[in-house]
Amino acid sequence: MIRSSVTNEGGVSPGAKQLLWLLAIGLGVVYLAAAYAGIYLTRHAGNIASLWPPNAIMLAVLLGWPSLPRLPAFASCALANMLANILHADPLPTALGFTLANMIEVGIPLVFVHWMGCGKGYVSDLNSTLILALGVLIGVAVASPIGAAVVTLAYGAPWSDIVATWLAADLAGMLIFAPPILCFGSDRNRKPLLTVPARSRREWALVGSAFIASFVIVFVSQDYASPYLFIPVLLWLAARFGPALTVIACTAIAVTASAATIGGGWDIFGLSDRGIREQILDLQIFIAVAVVSFLPLAILFRERDDLFAKLKAREERYSLMVRGSGAGIWTWEAATDQLLWSDRLKEIVGISDDDFEPDVSSFMSRLHPDDHVNVLEARRRHLSEREPYDIECRLRREDGSYIWIHNRGQAVWNESGEATRMAGSAEDITARKVAEAERAQYACELERSNQELDDFAYIASHDLKEPLRAIYNHAGFLLEDYSDRLEEDGKKRLHRLIELSQRMECLIADLLHYARLGRNDQSTEIIDLNTVISDIEGNFAETLQERNARIVVATPLPHVTGHHPHMTAIFQNLISNGIKYNDTQEKIIEIGLVPSEKEGSGNDAPTIYVRDNGIGIPDQFRDDVFLIFKRLNSEKAYGPGTGAGLSFVRKIVECLDGNIWLTSAPSEGTTFFLTLPPGKTSPQADAGDQAA
Ligand code: ADP
Repeated sequence: MIRSSVTNEGGVSPGAKQLLWLLAIGLGVVYLAAAYAGIYLTRHAGNIASLWPPNAIMLAVLLGWPSLPRLPAFASCALANMLANILHADPLPTALGFTLANMIEVGIPLVFVHWMGCGKGYVSDLNSTLILALGVLIGVAVASPIGAAVVTLAYGAPWSDIVATWLAADLAGMLIFAPPILCFGSDRNRKPLLTVPARSRREWALVGSAFIASFVIVFVSQDYASPYLFIPVLLWLAARFGPALTVIACTAIAVTASAATIGGGWDIFGLSDRGIREQILDLQIFIAVAVVSFLPLAILFRERDDLFAKLKAREERYSLMVRGSGAGIWTWEAATDQLLWSDRLKEIVGISDDDFEPDVSSFMSRLHPDDHVNVLEARRRHLSEREPYDIECRLRREDGSYIWIHNRGQAVWNESGEATRMAGSAEDITARKVAEAERAQYACELERSNQELDDFAYIASHDLKEPLRAIYNHAGFLLEDYSDRLEEDGKKRLHRLIELSQRMECLIADLLHYARLGRNDQSTEIIDLNTVISDIEGNFAETLQERNARIVVATPLPHVTGHHPHMTAIFQNLISNGIKYNDTQEKIIEIGLVPSEKEGSGNDAPTIYVRDNGIGIPDQFRDDVFLIFKRLNSEKAYGPGTGAGLSFVRKIVECLDGNIWLTSAPSEGTTFFLTLPPGKTSPQADAGDQAA
């Protein structure tokens, strides 16, 4: 509850603050009760403290609940200490002296654990437990001479005797009562000590019987050697049942033994002639030693169990990863020169014998002869120069066939720089290698067939042009030399023949151009589209004026990557089509950048649009217009053309891994969209450039 009311910023809400103050005062009340009982027992046993629990309670609460305000907690406990002494008829100065000693005894371990860096003060791991025990020892060692001095001054008792009993009683009290309280500490992130490992019912029954039996034997027989019977039971609890049960068992023994000793009915080590003071001292030392020995032991066992569980889980994860990856795993020990192969690796190599143990020479003998040198060199470079061991090589399978494996590894080196061990993975990449080889072959064949096509297109067009020229020339001659003998219709037909042969030449030229587009490696560069458009605008100045057309650049255009003449060809084609297939009085060609959905990077392929207010393209021809020689409109209505322009545009765009499409509404206009590879400069930067 207290934790949940702590605000995110680390502050505490006012309600929770009040509650914490109340709890701090409540701690004082508990301290008063424990101190009153402690003093009562001391007086009852002839002024000898058997156990002193209040300081342990105070220390454990302050460590386990760090959000409790320290100052009010200290003040209320100090007041409680004084009150308890006064209630037992101590004069005020004596009560003050006792209070001072007790507060020092709690203050020192508190400061010590913080100073040693285990602020939570938990007894959940061995280090913090030992630090806490050390802090307690220092605190009690400093406080006991002061407390003893107060006793000597007030009651005249021998100082050295009192120092010993104060020290032993407070130490035992701290060690007995602080750990169980700390088990309930407010830090839920740490595994509470109360967690008891799952054990079989039989084991619970056995350990319980052993504990009860030793209890009965020790307290009934009262044999001086019998307290040692607790040791095997505590050891059992520590090893198998965790710190919580160990501490609880120690507390049960301590409380019972104290009660029996104070009652005078029991002498722990059978040396009754030594008197009650010595008996209690023996008891306290026994209790302190038991707790100091078995609590760390229990923690150590639990840490070991946790570690085993973690290791097991990790091993399971690793083996799952290895199995999931499909790669074979290997390790190599330098000292023995032995290799260890995972089952998967054996499977890759086609070995079915589970007991098969490879060594380096058997691995080398499986290597393809052509890969020997490379593998040895890669291994040498890794082991001596520490370069990554990453090599592709061929390995002979059991059936004699070769497979390609991708072999990667990592060595570890000792202080003198010698590799002691190496481990790695081997992945079967045969399928990839075969695909690569096939791809390379296809690429080679494609290159050859392209070359052949190129030659064919050149020869064909060249050869086609020859007779075409001859037809053109002969028609010309006929017109020149026989015009007086030809009728009008004959002349008209000869003119048409010349026109058609010219058109045929254009078509052949376009076909050749189309075949060659994107074939020869064109050097690419970063091109500023704003410059491309303004150049085209310059070239088209007269046409624009004649046709009453204008080009509008609606947004700053980006830089793109491409071949400059090709980029000019794209936009020239689209702009000239926009003017050509346009019946409106004022022809407008608008060019702009489509805003990117993914803002920011500027590295995505920009989409540019070219919009006209022309005749539009019917929906069913949206794809056809990109086919070579496809024309939708008559030459008479919209002027000449071969129908190759848009096919050039598409081919250039696709060679740049771009895309082109259009939207259109008949009589309203057409918008072409094209994505082009980005240039290094982002559109935003371009916009900045333009603004400047
Ligand atoms: P060409 O202009 O030489 O005919 P294109 O390949 O450039 O060849 O265009 C193919 C056909 O697509 C054109 O004949 C025309 O019918 C149609 N077309 C192209 N651009 C437009 C446009 N902006 N508006 C309307 N129709 C167009």
